[in-house]
Amino acid sequence: MTAPIFVSHGSPTLIFDDVPARDFLIELGKALPRPKAILVASAHWETPEAHVTASPAPPTIHDFGGFPEAMYTQQYPAPGEPALAARVKALLEKAGIPATLDPARGLDHGAWVPLKLAWPQADIPVLQLSLQTHLGPAHHLKLGQALRPLAEEGVLILGSGSLTHDLRSVSWHGPNTEPDWVKSFGDWVNTALAEGRIDDLVNYRQLAPNAARNHPSEEHFLPLFVALGAAGPGAQMERLHTSVTFSVLRMDVFEFAG
Ligand code: ZN
Repeated sequence: MTAPIFVSHGSPTLIFDDVPARDFLIELGKALPRPKAILVASAHWETPEAHVTASPAPPTIHDFGGFPEAMYTQQYPAPGEPALAARVKALLEKAGIPATLDPARGLDHGAWVPLKLAWPQADIPVLQLSLQTHLGPAHHLKLGQALRPLAEEGVLILGSGSLTHDLRSVSWHGPNTEPDWVKSFGDWVNTALAEGRIDDLVNYRQLAPNAARNHPSEEHFLPLFVALGAAGPGAQMERLHTSVTFSVLRMDVFEFAG
């Protein structure tokens, strides 16, 4: 079993930023057993129905604007694995989830930023799975559950989003303080994960303090449910990292040992 992981990827500039979350990700790749392949559910790919990358050589997508030139020359030339993509599609369909293979789509920064830090050699096959944000947490838990057999075979299921993500409140140059409305939400999620309260997490928008403020839209929180679902019932959460960047982006990383 390869324990699924949720990673907070923060700003695309995490690849350069001298912050604890970057240092952590660099060490993470060295600390983990080498996965057979990595399937990333990234906040930055949303489609009406589930799509899976199926290119043997997915291009690096620079899906952001207004950043320094060096961000646009970044490459992450990891191979894809079309046969594994077909397997993902089959597993999703077996669970009653329509799925489509996308032979052209590449890797967005929600995938390549954390992967380039953790596995800079880019020699592990990488696939991406899209989100269906309009279907909410329960659907993404189900996506993860359908993919559990892959985790059992050594594929790393990686949810890539952000524990908190109110971009309107980002402080690019101010002090890196964590306001109460960020801390209270982040702490609530940590406690619910530690106590295995999956139903509460699925209903986080009603139950967690300041949920809608921290996630005006849900796409950066939903990858957590894919990792959680892949881990299976009774999985133990271990928080591997916590820090804050730009005052309001909690950079927590969770591992779910099934
Ligand atoms: Zn993002």
